Amino acid sequence: MKHHSIIELIERKRDGGALLPDELQWIIAEYTADRLPDYQMSSLLMAIFINGFSAEELGPWTEAMLLSGEVLDLEHISSPKIDKHSTGGVGDKISIPLAPMVAACGVAVPMMSGRGLGHTGGTLDKLESIPGFRTRLDKSEFVATVERYGLVLGGQSETMAPADRRIYALRDSTGTVPSLPLIASSIMSKKLAEGINGLVLDVKTGSGAFMKDEPSARALAETMVGIGASHGTKVVATLTGMDQPLGVAVGNANEIAESLDVLAGGGPTDVVDLTYSLGADMLVLGGIDADRDEALARLKKAVDSGAAMEKFQEVIAAQDGNPDVANDRSLLPTAPLRFELTAPESGYVTVCDARDIGVAGVRLGAGRERKEDDVDHGVSISVVSKVGTKVDRGDPLAIIEYRDQERLQAAMPLLSRAWKIGGSASEPELIIGHVT
Ligand code: URA
Repeated sequence: MKHHSIIELIERKRDGGALLPDELQWIIAEYTADRLPDYQMSSLLMAIFINGFSAEELGPWTEAMLLSGEVLDLEHISSPKIDKHSTGGVGDKISIPLAPMVAACGVAVPMMSGRGLGHTGGTLDKLESIPGFRTRLDKSEFVATVERYGLVLGGQSETMAPADRRIYALRDSTGTVPSLPLIASSIMSKKLAEGINGLVLDVKTGSGAFMKDEPSARALAETMVGIGASHGTKVVATLTGMDQPLGVAVGNANEIAESLDVLAGGGPTDVVDLTYSLGADMLVLGGIDADRDEALARLKKAVDSGAAMEKFQEVIAAQDGNPDVANDRSLLPTAPLRFELTAPESGYVTVCDARDIGVAGVRLGAGRERKEDDVDHGVSISVVSKVGTKVDRGDPLAIIEYRDQERLQAAMPLLSRAWKIGGSASEPELIIGHVT
């Protein structure tokens, strides 16, 4: 590959110029091979964050990230191979109940998830609160697990989309997360490396999403659907609201408990509705069902019969976790101290700000402030009163379980401004639209 001057490329992007396909490929190859230091990559990422990428840049950049590692060949698995990915939110545990539900209906789900990013939680961090659960699987184990169970819940191994794994961690600590081209290339490179036939995307919009308004969320969805099409992979996206957290649980272990509730036929309505809606998209995309109504009925049967929970337990055991968590939530980690945040006045909850609650969670230890930080799986926020709820003064807004008084103090300014009480409010819309 032809050598380039990284400084010249950074300066060109900084000044609003365009990078050429071979330059973009070279940058990804050099960074993956450890020949480009983090500080130069960070600087370039900030230039991309500020000046964006044209379609002519985004295609080769994404392709180079995808080809930075191995691409799975799952052709020998006869079931349709469909995955789901969310652009990231607060309390967004949907993948966890969704993947086993869909797998129990005959779709193979080779799910490769990420860690928490910024104020948003990560499926991998949540899964690791199940005692023993291993998300680091090498390629042969990843393939063998999806082959055998129709489901695998792994992280990015060293060998798959390594450029994204490293850029993702770098972005998290350099203020370069909420960028359309960086999010689109991150998601699509790792998802296309899975060797899937189709992908269902949940693109979030609102205060707790990286895309704050609907037009930018729609643009992100259209970009990712377009990358899929040019790669020959069917991608459908749902735009969903993320002004307030999804469900009640925000944290790690408590989000696993809420996911288990959904698999057991319960769980908060918004989590249940979105899980079924995205699940129906996956079954239709995989050709299991002809329409959404048929698919919804099949998903419900998988839950009611216990097949979906069984599938989750099988895969937990296969990945060295303790499957008894399904029946005994006390096996999940908790935090010892409890604080109840109460309504300062009577009225209706008009705001329950996802971003503030997400940042508060990170300050409590549920996420990372630096990429080398460990996650505390036991700390949690239970969002008791969401938008539209009528509260009396002194009623609980949230219950916080924490480990460390200083961390609670750091989270308090965010928690105390996250809720607003007013004269009236209705429940916000969850599913805003679709992009196909
Ligand atoms: N999810 C990802 O996988 N990557 C991003 O950049 C944002 C959300």
